Amino acid sequence: MRIFIATFGTETNTFSPLMTGRAAFMGERDWYRSGATHHPTTMANLPLKTWRDLAEANGHEVVESICSFAQPAGLTLRGVYEELRGYIMEDLKAAGPVDVVLLSMHGAMVAVGYDDCEGDVLAHARAITGPDTVIGTVLDLHCHLTPLMMQNADLIITYKEYPHDDIQPRSVELYRLASEAAAGTISPIMAEHDCRMLSIWRTPNQPVRAFVDRMQALESHDGILSVSFIHGFPWADVPHVGAKLLVIADGDAKKAQDLADQLGKEVWEMREANSSHYLTPDEGIDAILASTDARPLVLADVSDNAGGGAASDNTVILRRLIDRAIRDVAIGCFWDPQVVTFCRDAGVGETLTLRLGGKCGPTSGDPVDLTGTVRAVTDNLLQIGLGGGRSSLGPAVWLDVNGIAIVVVSGRQQTFSPEAFTNLGIELSKMRGVIVKSAQHFYNRFAGLASDVLFISAPGCVQPDMETLKLPRSGRVLWPQADKP
Ligand SMILES: [Zn+2]
Repeated sequence: MRIFIATFGTETNTFSPLMTGRAAFMGERDWYRSGATHHPTTMANLPLKTWRDLAEANGHEVVESICSFAQPAGLTLRGVYEELRGYIMEDLKAAGPVDVVLLSMHGAMVAVGYDDCEGDVLAHARAITGPDTVIGTVLDLHCHLTPLMMQNADLIITYKEYPHDDIQPRSVELYRLASEAAAGTISPIMAEHDCRMLSIWRTPNQPVRAFVDRMQALESHDGILSVSFIHGFPWADVPHVGAKLLVIADGDAKKAQDLADQLGKEVWEMREANSSHYLTPDEGIDAILASTDARPLVLADVSDNAGGGAASDNTVILRRLIDRAIRDVAIGCFWDPQVVTFCRDAGVGETLTLRLGGKCGPTSGDPVDLTGTVRAVTDNLLQIGLGGGRSSLGPAVWLDVNGIAIVVVSGRQQTFSPEAFTNLGIELSKMRGVIVKSAQHFYNRFAGLASDVLFISAPGCVQPDMETLKLPRSGRVLWPQADKP
């Protein structure tokens, strides 16, 4: 069997002030024209490495194309998108006949002129392979499921966990189903249910945990091959935004549709129980002050999550920490390469006056003028990222401002794990509060050291209030902005 593999993705926040260009896809981070499987594991090459290992163990031939995954931001530039799509198609044509195409993509990539990049990639691939090749894709659960994707893929599987700690098992499942379909032992048929909802589902928390466990228990018997709960990515004003259920059954369209409809109704039923509670910045600071636990309270600045396309330089919470003279609090990671440069030039121990953050647009808040002392610098701040691979934050510094430990980085990336602080020497156990710029992926690695984990809704381009999110281009009427039609 001949198996063609590639990674190509980003998550597009159509409200982000940052465009996604060439450097985001073809800079040093997570870019390989080919051969990504021979490099250290990151979130981007993890599916490729998984597929190569499985295929070679089974005696199959692997044809490997690009690996490119850009940090979430705003619209991808048209020429960059078409160039990368072109590499995949060029490689697929050059490969000649293949039995299976496996693509790791995000599912919420929007480029100038393309609302549905993944559907477009799948359609181009199908045009080259013809109908007999099995085409499968593994997507982030924060994707937009579209008719073009459904028409051109035989198998679509999304992550089940948020945090996305299950990229590898989902990739294994896709490989297994695709190779069985190519061998003719199964006949996958997909069906979807449109939940017509915008929300955030945190899978460690009930009732979502039980729902995900049940989805998984439904798979691999009674003719059900795969069940995906697509959470959707709300910060994208595109036609297919919103939550959906996707079921793959073996040769039985009605069975797939019935289960998708049933599970879709269950998602609807748990809508109120699922809703997250968000604090204002001052309520978050009050919670830190009120905590009597020796362990730090961990708070997430969800609205400035780089992983959702934000600039990660919003200063609203920092401004309140400084104004209220809060001490023994750590906050990060701020994306401000200029401040990192100044601090590294000054060196450890120097005190300097700087203008931090607030640089990328109205959703960044105002810059903060402050005087701080450089406590540590590093050429490359590393943390554990999604899927357990390493995630680079680039040159970075620990800046101390009257007992507030601020992590400033050169590589825009959300805070995934405590190493983003501790690798600079910040002792989190001595902090009263730790504020991370992330929406949920930090959760599993911070929960163990925290007295509690709370969420702050500050201004920003990933602001979590679904009732006020405006999506005029989508043309969709979705809960909670309207009751279910
Ligand atoms: Zn996601």
